[in-house]
Amino acid sequence: MGLVIYLDGQYVPEEKALVSVFDHGLLYGDGVFEGIRAYHNRVFRMDEHILRLYKSARAITLQIPLTEDEMKEIVLETCRRNDLRDGYIRLVVTRGPGDLGLDPRKCHKPTLLCIAASIQMYPEELYQQGLELITVATRRNLPEACNPQVKSLNYLNNICAKIEANLAGVPEAIMLNQQGYVAEATGDNIFIVDDDSTLITPPASAGALEGVTRNTVMEIAVKKGIKVEECTMTRYDIYNARECFLTGTAAEVIPAVKVDGRPIGEGKPGKMTWELIDAFHEVTKTDGPLIFR
Ligand code: PMP
Repeated sequence: MGLVIYLDGQYVPEEKALVSVFDHGLLYGDGVFEGIRAYHNRVFRMDEHILRLYKSARAITLQIPLTEDEMKEIVLETCRRNDLRDGYIRLVVTRGPGDLGLDPRKCHKPTLLCIAASIQMYPEELYQQGLELITVATRRNLPEACNPQVKSLNYLNNICAKIEANLAGVPEAIMLNQQGYVAEATGDNIFIVDDDSTLITPPASAGALEGVTRNTVMEIAVKKGIKVEECTMTRYDIYNARECFLTGTAAEVIPAVKVDGRPIGEGKPGKMTWELIDAFHEVTKTDGPLIFR
């Protein structure tokens, strides 16, 4: 059965969910989006995702013609119309149709769409065995150019890095910023556990998106009494880490066991990583508004 898609005020079958070829989301990647997860009949961290969507939009002067509450209702209703209790939700706001020039002032009505479907980022065995990563040559966008804090429709920076990983035959890439500090993976945040059992992740100022999963994992770790630090890291820190993992809405929490051909720690998923993965799954059972009451 095909999906029911929310598009510009209506719920339509997927084959009728069509956008204009003049939409600047398509022509220029001019727009913003969120990837959101539904777990156990709840939309996980919905408030945080909607807030980030509006902040991304604000940063590019894209006025969303709905309140945050109305947007949340669209997310819930799209899940209901697709009978979805566990899955992946994609919320997209584009600048809308304009002319062939790039001036956003020619776009008079943003396009808004919501898809509730499913996603599988990596094969199950990689969640058990851990990922291999490489550092790639493509640097993360400069904050002064296209700020990585904006979850925009323009993902070519990340895609270029992903292509490098694909060509090297590894599942994921680490992107550095212009100064050579670790920023993030192509669609996930990165964490390491150092010798003192401190959990470390790069700050947003290093070119990382402030991930909802990242923030959830940091919250969980603090509650568990783990020392958590947001600080810049280099490849040296990853090479010498005891443990490493990635976080993202689609990927969830996934161990990383090798980087640039070198085993991380003992070359297998670490104890703290497993502990945080378990705790993360627990949190998904109770967080967020109910889809069906
Ligand atoms: N970094 C980038 C570039 C992303 O696109 C994402 C989202 N897929 C993340 C990090 C992780 O963020 P979140 O946990 O909010 O999904």
